[in-house]
Amino acid sequence: MTKLKKIFFVLLCTALFLTGCSEEAQDTDKPVQSENQTAETKKPADTEKKKPKTKQAENTEEKPSDKEVSKADTEDKGEEKGEDEEKKEDSEKAQTIVIDPGHSAVTAEGTEPLGPGSSEYKSADTGGTSGVSSKVPEYELTLSISRQLKQVLEKRGYTVIMTRDTNDVPLSCVQRAEIANNADADAYIRIHANGSEDQSANGAMTICTTPQNPYISELYSANRLLSDCILNKLCETAGCRRERVWETDTMSGNNWSKVPTTIAEIGYMSNPQEDMKMQTPEYQSQIVQGIAKGIDTYFGY
Ligand SMILES: [Zn+2]
Repeated sequence: MTKLKKIFFVLLCTALFLTGCSEEAQDTDKPVQSENQTAETKKPADTEKKKPKTKQAENTEEKPSDKEVSKADTEDKGEEKGEDEEKKEDSEKAQTIVIDPGHSAVTAEGTEPLGPGSSEYKSADTGGTSGVSSKVPEYELTLSISRQLKQVLEKRGYTVIMTRDTNDVPLSCVQRAEIANNADADAYIRIHANGSEDQSANGAMTICTTPQNPYISELYSANRLLSDCILNKLCETAGCRRERVWETDTMSGNNWSKVPTTIAEIGYMSNPQEDMKMQTPEYQSQIVQGIAKGIDTYFGY
């Protein structure tokens, strides 16, 4: 062979060898790549199947807007939380819910700013109302409802934290909100019961911040959606009157919350019939199921 032919022959062999390798690699996964490399190349497809939520988050990122509400926010958060969240997603929901049973047998004393940096001060907490017929204090009803809600939400796969689980802890509105903030909660649900001088007043309402809130206006869309979802499902499930979503910036606990929040006023303790009804296990269960459904709806489940 001439030198030129030899070079051509070597080049041809090299070309054939390389072509063979790449085809084999595509077909079988085996040659050339080490096991680790193969595992790595397989990963993306597998994890995408397991984590549809990450995909949704990517989709929502493509069209960001201020009005994109909580779902996008919480899914982004889920992504940021990284490995811990990924582990949970296999069997559980990624979201953490903080439940605040309103008031307490020992009322927190003093005053605190209406919102972060505010010069206006408000009572740290109040004693709450009590049943006109049942005589049960609001803090007992709110704790009972909250404990049941915790159980139901945990069964649905949420991580749940309570601001209090006894009646003898004084907690201010700011302290309660800080528990939700420190937990980086995906929703902060405040349970209360209503009172009115008009004994015929009945039904449920939720309380939400306004779009002009001076402390956390960016949370308005999320707060409003959470308030709507919970009120709609609560009234639908319990069969009570849907009073309204009350938008106000006078609730310090809402103003201090850096996470989506709402107050659920589950009914009027000043209404003799509704008061007695709210003491029955059947009606309490309906209220709890309704709030849980509202939370599911808010997160898109
Ligand atoms: Zn209350």
